[in-house]
Amino acid sequence: MIRLSNIKLDLDHSPEELTQAILTMLNIAADELVETVVFRRGIDARAKNRIFLLYTLDVTTSKDEALLEQFADNQSIKPTPDMSYKFVAQAPEDLGERPVVVGFGPCGIFAGLVLAQMGYKPIILERGKEVRERTKDTFGFWRTKKLNTESNVQFGEGGAGTFSDGKLWTQIKDKKHYGRKVLNEFVAAGAPEEILFVSKPHIGTFKLVSMVEKMRAKIIELGGEIRFSARVDDFHIEDGQVLGLTLADGTQIKSKHIALAIGHSARDTFKMIYDSGIYIEAKPFSVGFRIEHKQSVIDEALFGKFAGHPILGAADYKLVHHCKSGRSVYSFCMCPGGTVVAATSEEHAVVTNGMSQYSRNERNANSAIVVGIDPDDYPEHPLAGIELQRQLEKAAYVLGGENYDAPAQLVGDFLTGTSSAAIGGVEPSYKPGIKLTDMTGLLPQYCVDAIREAIPAFNKKIRGFAMEDATLTGVETRTSSPICIKRSDDFQSINTKGFYPSGEGAGYAGGIMSSAIDGIKVAEAMALSINEQADSK
Ligand code: FAD
Repeated sequence: MIRLSNIKLDLDHSPEELTQAILTMLNIAADELVETVVFRRGIDARAKNRIFLLYTLDVTTSKDEALLEQFADNQSIKPTPDMSYKFVAQAPEDLGERPVVVGFGPCGIFAGLVLAQMGYKPIILERGKEVRERTKDTFGFWRTKKLNTESNVQFGEGGAGTFSDGKLWTQIKDKKHYGRKVLNEFVAAGAPEEILFVSKPHIGTFKLVSMVEKMRAKIIELGGEIRFSARVDDFHIEDGQVLGLTLADGTQIKSKHIALAIGHSARDTFKMIYDSGIYIEAKPFSVGFRIEHKQSVIDEALFGKFAGHPILGAADYKLVHHCKSGRSVYSFCMCPGGTVVAATSEEHAVVTNGMSQYSRNERNANSAIVVGIDPDDYPEHPLAGIELQRQLEKAAYVLGGENYDAPAQLVGDFLTGTSSAAIGGVEPSYKPGIKLTDMTGLLPQYCVDAIREAIPAFNKKIRGFAMEDATLTGVETRTSSPICIKRSDDFQSINTKGFYPSGEGAGYAGGIMSSAIDGIKVAEAMALSINEQADSK
């Protein structure tokens, strides 16, 4: 097969035009082209008045070898690389103690799945409930303000990304094509096939829920076991080696191979890990607000006359501004055509985040606008970043009226430091509700100053971004983990053998895709270590 890249066609091109582009590029006749598979379809919207589709294609012809030789110097015509996933190990016949995965978010799902596919029959422990029950609790909180601290946006089957936009792209280096394995497994679990080729794939909340169930069934079918409402409350460590763990109900499980994939919100578990002597350090994270505009404003600013074109869908953006103070402000977890959601896992706290459905057809575009902060910004203690997050979330709860409504302010009022009195043209989507106020005092002054500088700068890139009646809700604190549980090259904690800090919570990923990829890498490392120990017996 031959991979052809950089094929540029108009948005409304016909299938014949695509075929003709291939024939022209390879200088072959129509009957020499056997098969065409779209590997990637991107959008080049740099010039608003002429938006293109940019294709990478895998084609089979009747003379692949000759063509590859003929075009050897052409960087856009290369052999299709082998991107198939290859398992690194197979479980020994006498497996003995089974590996354990703590947490069933993207990282835990893929660690568990790959271990199960290699025959290691993992035990997976998840503090929250099965996804359907969890959905009731989470949507129930948004309706009735009754929070279940063990079953919410952060905790439960599927992890933090279950009620999300389901964006699946990542910028991490992926030489071994782990990302392809993740996408293929998602498609096998019911994700739309287009995620395999569109440049910015997304899934949306409702599809994610049923995919998570299918992946659970697959792991069980392969001999894995998944226990819900199974919060890990203690690890047994002797002489720098993990030996097992204790669940909240007192159940003990022995294992010398435990992956910790608990996400960034399990603050009680972080504290327990720190108290048990496993090495943790503070790491940078970001805080800010969520901004909402009408989606049509963003579409028109980015797509001009093509706004609303079905192949483009709702426009997204990614913005960064480097402030005079040296701080950076950036957009994070942008959700086109989505809603802002209440994302706390703790009582008396308000946290914003965003989600959408596959159709992305809600009226507003939302995104976090956050400022990077650093361990130097708060007291020197590995868990001090968590404390800062908690203080901000509690302050937002108080400012919102102490009933889980979020404090909110119009952008125009935020820029001038005035309390907002009435909503303008952008109706905030946050559920359960909002309270208009002045959010200036909610964040440290250096964050407020940075965001005030960034919003007008963003307006130069997206016209309308700084419009007076765009709305801000807050507070956005769960952007990434405020800690790192350091691990060595063998993926084990630097001071606790057999303990595998993984995914976003441990500081090794950010987002669904990179967390899932980290889960695969950790599963591979665990499998190799188990086999090494079995061989040395
Ligand atoms: P998590 O998904 O957080 O999973 C950790 C799991 O561990 C949880 O299910 C938790 O219940 C469990 N757990 C915690 N402590 C324990 C314990 N002691 N014992 C047992 N189990 C425990 N990312 C994207 O890439 N695209 C998006 O569109 C996107 N949208 C998002 C929208 C929302 C509302 C949120 C909250 C997040 C979003 N993210 C998105 C981020 C993404 O969800 C995370 O990066 C990703 O889920 C991290 O994966 P993880 O497996 O490392 O951790």
